[in-house]
Amino acid sequence: MDILARNIADSLGSASWIRRMFEAGAQLKAQYGAENVYDFSLGNPDLPAPPEAVQGLKDFAATCTEPFAFGYMANGGFPWLRKDVAAWLSKEQGLSLGAEDVLLCAGAAGGLNAFFRAVLDPGDEVLTFAPYFVEYGFYAANHGASLKAVSSIAESFAPNLEALKKAIGPKTRLLLINSPHNPTGAVYSREDLQSIAKILEEKSCEYGRPIWLLADEPYRFLAYDGVEVPSVLGLYPYSAAVGSLSKSMSLPGERVGWIVLSPALPDKERVMAALTLTNRILGFVNPPVVGQQILARAMGSNVDKGVYERRRKAMAEVLEAGGYAFPMPKGAFYFFPQVPGGGDDLAFVQDLLSERILAVPGTGFGWPGHFRLAFCVDESTIRNAAPGFKRAAERFREKGGKK
Ligand code: PLP
Repeated sequence: MDILARNIADSLGSASWIRRMFEAGAQLKAQYGAENVYDFSLGNPDLPAPPEAVQGLKDFAATCTEPFAFGYMANGGFPWLRKDVAAWLSKEQGLSLGAEDVLLCAGAAGGLNAFFRAVLDPGDEVLTFAPYFVEYGFYAANHGASLKAVSSIAESFAPNLEALKKAIGPKTRLLLINSPHNPTGAVYSREDLQSIAKILEEKSCEYGRPIWLLADEPYRFLAYDGVEVPSVLGLYPYSAAVGSLSKSMSLPGERVGWIVLSPALPDKERVMAALTLTNRILGFVNPPVVGQQILARAMGSNVDKGVYERRRKAMAEVLEAGGYAFPMPKGAFYFFPQVPGGGDDLAFVQDLLSERILAVPGTGFGWPGHFRLAFCVDESTIRNAAPGFKRAAERFREKGGKK
């Protein structure tokens, strides 16, 4: 008789691909030295936090001997900070948000779980477009719900609206979208978001209860070439967005994020009360103090995006030289190329290891035949990996994708 819960024991048995790559990478690094391993497996931002964040931490440190500087607080975060975040996001998204529309939480992951806990009943279905961030399945399961994947449009990775219409059923409670997107770098257009809103409106009427639209936006401030990242909040009343400091401010370990509700949401006060409760009872209690104090002082600052832009260009050149097919990412820090020769992604990622290149197979994101490369690594790592990428592609094309 196992002492663990069955689904957790099962999950332990099938460690995530990112985890497996991490372990394979650790072995290679011990054998060849870290500088001789090209590790594109992790979305852990390597750029330093913006100077405003570092200064903010120092300024807070100068005051933190005051009583309760690290004390418990309201479960939704510092009320004054919620007001500041509302003003900042109002300006950024062209909306009129107040403190009552914003809840502070433990990163985007904490925000997604607080939201799910507040709106999902056991047996409900959460829809999301594949490929998708693998944790979504766990987050839905945390609350007795199930995740159902809807195909994106192949190769552009735009939302497939026809597939969405077909996938919605009586159990659908929520559509979770992610733009800029992990693992593809796609950014959803305003037209696509408007169409999604229309579909959800129609289907909500058909099934007699509102279907939520939840936008997972930890990469909101990492978009390139001036591409617009439209806000969903003004497009659909039953919408909310979750964001964090993790990616654009390189503060993923600080675990601070926010949930913002559509200003047009009916019964907003009740929803906010529910989120405040779920933030508490999931054990977060309140968002971390230090991260909030940094956010207060560094709001709106970003890492040097120019560095990511240069790496994106370098990676595109390396992949093109190797003959890979891929859509240019418009945001986030990932490429999602096709496996050469239309081959098996698991075999290909295994093959890349012989070149000391670490990547994550598309299978890990519910989209086989592709692989993910994170470019939160030095430009030199990207350039030095070029010969290995080329050799692996040639080998794989010769084999016709077979191992
Ligand atoms: N959503 C997506 C798509 C992510 O890629 C990540 C982190 O990699 C998260 C959510 C979690 O972000 P946070 O660190 O803010 O919890």
